[in-house]
Amino acid sequence: MTRIITARLSACVLGIALASGASEAARAGDRLRGDTFVVDPGHGTRFPDGSPLNVGAVGPSGIEENKVTLAVGEDLAALLRAAGATVVLTRSFAKPYRTATDKRLDNRGRATLANTLHATAFIAVHADSSLARTAHGTSVFWLRPNSTSLANAVRARLAPLRLGEAAFHIRDLAVTNEARVPAVLVELGYVSNPAQERLLATPSFQKRQAQALFDAIADTFAR
Ligand SMILES: [Zn+2]
Repeated sequence: MTRIITARLSACVLGIALASGASEAARAGDRLRGDTFVVDPGHGTRFPDGSPLNVGAVGPSGIEENKVTLAVGEDLAALLRAAGATVVLTRSFAKPYRTATDKRLDNRGRATLANTLHATAFIAVHADSSLARTAHGTSVFWLRPNSTSLANAVRARLAPLRLGEAAFHIRDLAVTNEARVPAVLVELGYVSNPAQERLLATPSFQKRQAQALFDAIADTFAR
């Protein structure tokens, strides 16, 4: 009799464990279900004739900002999709270049897309540049109060990457001005700084940056 009860108890405990494991797995793939994010890998725009309009910064060993932002943007998109979100990339590996004749209008158009889609948030991904080779660190810019929580979360999640912080403040940029949904522009570090250029070009480090951005988004918007 005792043995039967024990057996039933174990089955019961096991059942609970299995059920909670399964629901955790479901939650992980569900944390951002119903949300739409517009991820904007900065730069990568060409004139209609194919000549470059906006390649972004270029590091001392030739690393191009538009390539770094595209890699991190795609990594971030994959993480968001795995959490159940819908993601629209303004550029992608499949379509790496946008076509435009005016940089500022193109940047505004990227944020307009987030407004049109009523996105949960808009995340512009950039890398910084300076004539001073020693300049380093990440930056986070936003404009409207609805973006403050996301900006704070991005700052907190980037800090452990130990790149330093170059800037963290409200800034009226083409994308932050145009976006009506929560919007941040993130500078992932300085491609003009040789040490940070190396990191920014390293796929494993790009994945860590994407993970930091994902965690910040989940911190802010996951239910
Ligand atoms: Zn940029």
